[in-house]
Amino acid sequence: MERNVSSLAIVLHSQRYGQLNRRLKLLSVDYGIIDVISYGARKSLKSVKAEVFTDAQFFLYYNPVKKDYTLKDAEVVATHDDIRDDLVRTYCALLFCELVLKTNGGESAGEYQLLSTALDLLSEAPLYSDRILIQFIHRLTDLLGLRTDLSSCPICEREYGQQEVLSFSSALSCPCCSECASLESNMLLPPGARRYLVATSSLGYEESVLVELSPTATSRIKNYLLRYAQIITGGTLKTLSAGILQGAADQ
Ligand SMILES: [Zn+2]
Repeated sequence: MERNVSSLAIVLHSQRYGQLNRRLKLLSVDYGIIDVISYGARKSLKSVKAEVFTDAQFFLYYNPVKKDYTLKDAEVVATHDDIRDDLVRTYCALLFCELVLKTNGGESAGEYQLLSTALDLLSEAPLYSDRILIQFIHRLTDLLGLRTDLSSCPICEREYGQQEVLSFSSALSCPCCSECASLESNMLLPPGARRYLVATSSLGYEESVLVELSPTATSRIKNYLLRYAQIITGGTLKTLSAGILQGAADQ
């Protein structure tokens, strides 16, 4: 017996399913990440528009026997279509979706809120795409429970000096002092970057994106967090393989 359900959700991924249909992955507030079949999505003019990055209230049928969801309708909150006007912003948004899919361990309402805000910011503040990216990864680590306070080493508990450059522990996947660091790690966090991450931790997302950051610092922190994102997802991220996001800062 099918049930009608609905939830706020964002389309993370969409792929062909059979001749005319699409299989979507949604990050939903109420059911976490779910697979949803959109029948006739490729042909019918009347079919529900649900492209990647679409933020909407989705109306679904749930079949509890087959445990699958079918898309019936959607009330769009934001399509975020204008993100696709620019290659870098498109890759940013695709990276956000990939990170949510691959980490899939946070609390879904919090992750939905983070991604929804990130996509809105990419639409509305295109000049700040690097800072939006930096803050997305920084905030995601908090949601996933991976963030450490950057004031003392989580291993030996020694308080860091003001000018200390932090190293990295591969075992714990977090920054630590140089004595506790894994030998193979080349993840170095300079004091300026650390101050920025600490200072923006307590701000809202929109507010944090307005905090000034020099092009050099932006590019350094961004590349650090992109490498960090690869570490916490345990491998290569498809959206980073093209090298588009690793370029110099855009400010
Ligand atoms: Zn230590």
